[in-house]
Amino acid sequence: MGPRLKPARNRRATYKASARVRRRAPLPHAADLHTYQMVTNSIADMVSVVGEDEVYRLVNDAWCRETGLKREDVIGRSVTEVLPGSITPERRRALSDCLDHQRPGVLRDVFTRPGGTLRYLETTYAPFAEPVQGVRCAALVTRDVTAEETAAQATQTAHARMLALLDAFPGFMAACDEQHRYTYVNERLARVLGLPAREIVGQLASDVLGEQRFLINLPQVERAWRGEPSMAERQYPDPAGSGDLDLEVHYVAGAPLADGRRSYYVFGIDISDRKQAQQALIAAKEEAERANRAKSRFMSLMSHELRTPMNAILGFGQLLRSDPLHPLTPDQQQYVDEILVGGRHLLTLINDVLDLGRIESGRLAMAMAPVALRPIVEECLALIAPLAQQRPVRLLLPEPDSLQCHVHTDPLRLKQVLLNLLSNAIKYNRRDGDVTVRCVPGREQVELRISDTGVGLTPDQRQRLFVAFERLGSSLEGSGIGLALSRQLMRAMGGEIGVDSELDIGSTFWLRLRAAPSQAGAAPAALDATPVALDALRRHRVLYVEDNEVNALLMRAMLARLPGVQFEHTVSPLQAIEMARAARPDLLLLDIQLPEIDGFELLRRLRTDPAMGHVPAIAVSAGAMPADIERALQAGFAAYLTKPLDLSELLHAVQQHLRGR
Ligand code: MN
Repeated sequence: MGPRLKPARNRRATYKASARVRRRAPLPHAADLHTYQMVTNSIADMVSVVGEDEVYRLVNDAWCRETGLKREDVIGRSVTEVLPGSITPERRRALSDCLDHQRPGVLRDVFTRPGGTLRYLETTYAPFAEPVQGVRCAALVTRDVTAEETAAQATQTAHARMLALLDAFPGFMAACDEQHRYTYVNERLARVLGLPAREIVGQLASDVLGEQRFLINLPQVERAWRGEPSMAERQYPDPAGSGDLDLEVHYVAGAPLADGRRSYYVFGIDISDRKQAQQALIAAKEEAERANRAKSRFMSLMSHELRTPMNAILGFGQLLRSDPLHPLTPDQQQYVDEILVGGRHLLTLINDVLDLGRIESGRLAMAMAPVALRPIVEECLALIAPLAQQRPVRLLLPEPDSLQCHVHTDPLRLKQVLLNLLSNAIKYNRRDGDVTVRCVPGREQVELRISDTGVGLTPDQRQRLFVAFERLGSSLEGSGIGLALSRQLMRAMGGEIGVDSELDIGSTFWLRLRAAPSQAGAAPAALDATPVALDALRRHRVLYVEDNEVNALLMRAMLARLPGVQFEHTVSPLQAIEMARAARPDLLLLDIQLPEIDGFELLRRLRTDPAMGHVPAIAVSAGAMPADIERALQAGFAAYLTKPLDLSELLHAVQQHLRGR
């Protein structure tokens, strides 16, 4: 028997020799036979030749090695005799096909090896006629294909795993080639597109998506190919429901295909829930804004309605208290004072409620500025001093030097907070107690401390103190919302308010304000307090348009304090235009809410008359919202007075605008 393996050069040489032999001689020479034998034995695959009688005529070395049989025990014996157990029906059919019908065949078999691993064999059946006797033969070449079979299976398994992975991904995936032909879609996306995945692959995206949907994606794909981040939100019909799916779609440049063409991947994430939550949030916000607008309208209305009767109470009260012609008895004086105190308290409450409502809906505009602290504190202390004397409570003032600083604040609002704290410190003090005001200036912030010597607060009371309408107990009469409003105001000014308290010793309320660099700023323009003497000899015509008769009566009585004023009144704005044309007034006082036309329209019509173009007009209204006032000043009113009217403020404004006329 020849060697099992020969060098490659020798094998090639042998092949050429055999080709020559076939051409030259019908009968093999002994040397040629030897060559054939050597070649056959050098083949690593199992080779056998079976005659038409199914008897082995040739087996090579590899065959003997694999079967463990000796050649002399095999040649001349039949297939069933030699390998009785290994002739499966398939092998028998392949062999008889080859021998009886001269049909070549290929058969792949799998065997279980002793260790349990599998072995794959591939046998080719080649028919031929033996040249000497013309016997039909079959040449069987059996090759071990276990390695390639297991490699193919491994590839298949890996591929199936990857597909399972992609299909399990809770998103939508597609891969396309440069011509926008699908090379892959996962099941989830296929369901959305309404076709089985295998039918989508190979199709053009424009055919699957429709031209329009395809075209809007194109710029995103171009961006991805340029290496830029590429994302878009898209809507697709929800295959599981009736609505739409909101997808966040990412486009990513893919790995080049085998032929070098570009590709891209598309990943979609379902953001329907997020979208719904967003929409719910927007709806809730709109609802809240609607509610706020309704609240705002209600507050504006309520303010107007409450101020109108307050105008009569406070207005006539002020007139009675200071009537030079009919002075009151001391008792009467006290009664009127009580009416005025009660009325003003009520007005404060109304204003506080409105401020609180505005501040809670974020509509309270703050006029923040760096201002000197000292004038503000001193003004508040001066205003509160009478209350302290009446109690009596001692007011211990701060070191004037400690007040020499500036703070960032809205001066009006700071005064409002300070007055609230000071009046509380007096009201909730013991008789002959102290109210101590201290100022602790710092680089970042300035602290104002207002201490009383009252009963102090329990921790529980301290907690509820700054909450609107919390009652602190029957022993404490409270304004109900003063401290709640103070806290909101301080927050809006970027400051803080708080309280330290000890039972039976007293409480200290503190305000922290943002410090501002000291500066020689211009002092705020003070009201011109000097009384303006009117020319008493000249009659000044004042026309008041007001539909409420009580308000008109009050105005008439108030203006009677000004000598030289000739008061005229009408409830009808249309009649007012006639009156103004007939006898030109020197000053117009206009209510805003009027029958027929409102105060704005009345002013506009009066202004169209050249003779009336420059007559000053003052708005007198129960509308006290900053927006009302702003609108009136822009419409050309010279001033805006809110009801309830303050007697001295009214007289001052009327005098100012009549001066020189
Ligand atoms: Mn009115």
